[in-house]
Amino acid sequence: MKCIACGGEAKQTDPRSWCCLDCGAELYKSDDSEVSVVGYKDSDERISVWDAADIYLSRGFDEDYQFGYTHEELMQALDD
Ligand SMILES: [Zn+2]
Repeated sequence: MKCIACGGEAKQTDPRSWCCLDCGAELYKSDDSEVSVVGYKDSDERISVWDAADIYLSRGFDEDYQFGYTHEELMQALDD
């Protein structure tokens, strides 16, 4: 399925869990089919909030380029 954090391809690792091949997000599907990000597999390789914010800005605040951060976190990083 599609990663909800970055829109990349996520690989199923468990009947209810997926891991994104692009950003390393660990996705979990609940009983009511709600998908959430429960963590990141390779936290060291996760793009920093500042890099993510630069890309997010350059993409015109496209939510596909939030890299698992919230809009507020990215805007805060741009202010720093
Ligand atoms: Zn992803």
